[in-house]
Amino acid sequence: MVERRNEARSVAVRCDFAFTSHHSKTARAVLSPRLPLALPVNPDLNARRVNARLRKVLSQLRLALAADELRLDAATLQAHAGDKWFAAHPPDLVVLPKTPEAVATVLRIAHEHRVPVTPRGAGYGYVGGCVPVRGGIALSVAGMNRIKEINPRDFVAVVEPGVITAKLQAAAEKRGLYYPPDPASRADCSLGGNIATNAGGPRCLKYGVTRDYVLGLQVALADGRLVRLGSRCHKNKTGFDLHRMFVGSEGLLGIVTEATLKLLPLPPYRALIGVGFDSTRGAARSLAAIFKAGFLPCALEIADEFTLAAAYKRTKSEQLAGCRAMLFVELDGQERSVRAELADVEQLVAAQKPVFINRAFGGAAVESLWGLRREFSYSLRDTGLTKLNEDIVVPRGRLEELFRFAVRLQQQHGLPVACFGHAGDGNIHVNVMVDYAQPGNRARADAALDDLFKQILAWGGVITGEHGIGLAKKPWWPLAANEDVRQLHRAVKRALDPRGILNPGKFV
Ligand SMILES: Cc1cc2nc3c(=O)[nH]c(=O)nc-3n(C[C@H](O)[C@H](O)[C@H](O)COP(=O)(O)OP(=O)(O)OC[C@H]3O[C@@H](n4cnc5c(N)ncnc54)[C@H](O)[C@@H]3O)c2cc1C
Repeated sequence: MVERRNEARSVAVRCDFAFTSHHSKTARAVLSPRLPLALPVNPDLNARRVNARLRKVLSQLRLALAADELRLDAATLQAHAGDKWFAAHPPDLVVLPKTPEAVATVLRIAHEHRVPVTPRGAGYGYVGGCVPVRGGIALSVAGMNRIKEINPRDFVAVVEPGVITAKLQAAAEKRGLYYPPDPASRADCSLGGNIATNAGGPRCLKYGVTRDYVLGLQVALADGRLVRLGSRCHKNKTGFDLHRMFVGSEGLLGIVTEATLKLLPLPPYRALIGVGFDSTRGAARSLAAIFKAGFLPCALEIADEFTLAAAYKRTKSEQLAGCRAMLFVELDGQERSVRAELADVEQLVAAQKPVFINRAFGGAAVESLWGLRREFSYSLRDTGLTKLNEDIVVPRGRLEELFRFAVRLQQQHGLPVACFGHAGDGNIHVNVMVDYAQPGNRARADAALDDLFKQILAWGGVITGEHGIGLAKKPWWPLAANEDVRQLHRAVKRALDPRGILNPGKFV
């Protein structure tokens, strides 16, 4: 794990020149709230100019922000250097604004002096999206974490961007309301981060991804203007769909300072079956049969043999011994219809001769059975191998082929490949498992990822369904988006951030 981290870090710094030239340990160590920014270690003319700009920014920020909104101590800089991927690079300073106006002020000052600003939510991203690869300012919205309104008449919630996703869900459910997008990281990640990455999760099969719940946004633009886009209405066709343009924009176009989110009535009942098979074929065919019969489950998740073997080691669940694939099917709605529909779904699944079917009825039992699914990621970590988790998506019809391809990938490159995830969406987490202590494995892993992404794109799939491009997928961005598409991205970026200060060094 450590080795990959180092490698990725050097990649990030190699291809993205840091804004400042003083990111050495020595220089960082002398940063303190008492001192202005450190002088450059290598005081060439350019570095001096850069530091002069930073010093101006710092003195203006000191006047504009409250003392606890600005941090320069080494521990805070380090804590804002990375996310849950393998790259890290410290910013020169961290700002923790508490209001949209303070966010706007930081941007106005940064824009004036052309200093990079990297937005950050909870730092639970999986692609290095909030890594400040060019130094400058890390702007964390973690302190803007109030749920401002949950309105059962309008079916909306108004939130600050730092609200943790699960907190909004719990608060909404207490009022009989439902905010469906459920990334597995929901206990830790922020709604602002979810919006910036267009996060998804198991329930998105039936309910859609974060994008589908964003009715309105307040956004601080790169030059410090605050704009309100969209509305609190569930339908709106006034002008371009501008608020949605910021969804999935990975902090490159503006900083979300408030969001108005759609809520649904909370489905009163849930039921889940967990079904074991002796082949992924049986699982994939069950899935096809469920859709063909007109069912749209709330979630439809799949896991392969490697994943289940690892889960068996961790959980000691006898059912998993020798089980080659597993499907989780959840239905929700009114109790009578859920029970009746689940019986029909079970019949469809039984036709594929499963090795076991576990049933869970009602919220508590369902959550307990999902507990097994949530063990998968940890089980793979228990193997001691580095898990390169790629959140690819294939057109649904390619699912069986994807699993066959994963077996070939494993054989060709001599590395285990574990697949599990949101089968209903065709969004499978393909985990290339690497022991970096073995000579040659680094090159093998790179080649395996290359082959994986090329095949996915050849099928008309996409290289990321939920996590985003960030730094992790940046090498494959030119493959995934042709020159016209990349040009369009650049044009949008230029229009909104002409000085390129927002999250520089990423894919646009
Ligand atoms: C164990 C684990 C499981 C995960 N499971 C899932 C999953 O099931 N589904 C899924 O979709 N993802 C998943 N993720 C990935 C991750 O949690 C999501 O991408 C999440 O949305 C990140 O939110 P965050 O607050 O941590 O954002 P950060 O990591 O802080 O930032 C992510 C990106 O958003 C930008 N950003 C953050 N806040 C703002 C803002 N207010 N305005 C503008 N830009 C902003 C940042 O610049 C960065 O580019 C998982 C991650 C982990 C570690």
